[in-house]
Amino acid sequence: MTELAPHYDVVCIGGAMMGSATAYFLTENPDFDGTVLVVEPDWTYDRAATTRAQNSIREQFTNELNIRLSGFGVDFIADFHENVQVDGDAPEINFRGTGYLFLADTEELYERLERESEVQLAAGAEVEMLRPADIAERFPYMDADQLSGARLGGMREGSFDGWAFFQGLRQRARHNGAVYVKDRVVDLDVAGGRVVRVHLESGRSVACGHAVNTSGCRARQVAAMAGVELPIEPRARTSFVFDCRTPIPHTVPLTITPVGVHFRREQNHYMCGGVPEHDVAVDYDDLEVRYDEFEELIWPAVARYVPCFDEIGVVTSWGGQYDYNTLDHNLIIGASSAVENLIFANGFSGHGLQQGPAVGRGISELITYGGYRTIDLSPLGYSRIERNEPIVEHAVI
Ligand SMILES: Cc1cc2nc3c(=O)[nH]c(=O)nc-3n(C[C@H](O)[C@H](O)[C@H](O)COP(=O)(O)OP(=O)(O)OC[C@H]3O[C@@H](n4cnc5c(N)ncnc54)[C@H](O)[C@@H]3O)c2cc1C
Repeated sequence: MTELAPHYDVVCIGGAMMGSATAYFLTENPDFDGTVLVVEPDWTYDRAATTRAQNSIREQFTNELNIRLSGFGVDFIADFHENVQVDGDAPEINFRGTGYLFLADTEELYERLERESEVQLAAGAEVEMLRPADIAERFPYMDADQLSGARLGGMREGSFDGWAFFQGLRQRARHNGAVYVKDRVVDLDVAGGRVVRVHLESGRSVACGHAVNTSGCRARQVAAMAGVELPIEPRARTSFVFDCRTPIPHTVPLTITPVGVHFRREQNHYMCGGVPEHDVAVDYDDLEVRYDEFEELIWPAVARYVPCFDEIGVVTSWGGQYDYNTLDHNLIIGASSAVENLIFANGFSGHGLQQGPAVGRGISELITYGGYRTIDLSPLGYSRIERNEPIVEHAVI
């Protein structure tokens, strides 16, 4: 059993993407000279969203902050090998830039995509609007007659190996001195508006300077241990991989149909998913595959725009969960006014892998300097929950 010190400056509650990104950026920051403990019960990470994601990154958000958060993710991935090296070695992240293609089947939707592209261009994202003739020329496997147009992102958008991404951060954080313990946080002692002690399932406990809630879908349970309410619930998302008899000898961007069904190429197959018709909170342990979604939602949507997807077969599938922020499906970062040293990194609603580096860096700044030094993430803070003021983001996948 890992021996624990009586006190840690920072305790991360959950050791997947957010726990590891926080531990990484704290221990990389030359101005932070504290100790970091990461508590994680499942060292296989089998049930974590981090392991069940579709591993893609985009600049095409409609909120400038989200664009900048993912933009830092893109830069971090570009230098990944140098960023996470341990003894000259680093996992291979295998980034493939393909762009994201948002399809429009009505003039109204095309105009909305075009309006959003102005925000994206102003924030430095690479995007271009396409009309059906452009789509037919660039992506001849698509039935462009079904479309009024599309918005295409640049090669900074694409897919990568999510497991390597997370493991690289984790390995480097451990190398830098962060302590990972196989245990579960079961309670928090709060005194004078601060978390003072963290209790573990094994019966042990440690005192802390800050606690960071990096527990993914269970964020609401962990916040409740300190008496704070978080509007986050688990929502089921099934991923399918299918193969298609007809080879497509062209680039296939990560494509989002007007009903929100998305697909992208993964080696010789295609990975896809969509938003279930009845999108409600599910049990924390519910990782069941919703097989009917493929027949009823996904197949009709992809075959409508890509005729050769008429003949496809499912190769594999798996269940996962979004840590869904019911106020505005955006991340919540920072503390509440009630418990000043319990920092949230929760509610990513499906885009947490790509935002992990910017969030880890932001938390390291909050803890080390008492405020943000790079991207000002305060609009994404907990106070908007207290004021019931959503941040608007239209491009939710
Ligand atoms: C189907 C699907 C597709 C996705 N696709 C993408 C994508 O393409 N791009 C993208 O950017 N994002 C994507 N995401 C989202 C992304 O996976 C998540 O936002 C991100 O992985 C969240 O990381 P996390 O560390 O917050 O949560 P998790 O990975 O869920 O990890 C939380 C950890 O906390 C631990 N924990 C829970 N309770 C406790 C406790 N009491 N004590 C200690 N530890 C605890 C758990 O064991 C778990 O390991 C996708 C998600 C899903 C489900």
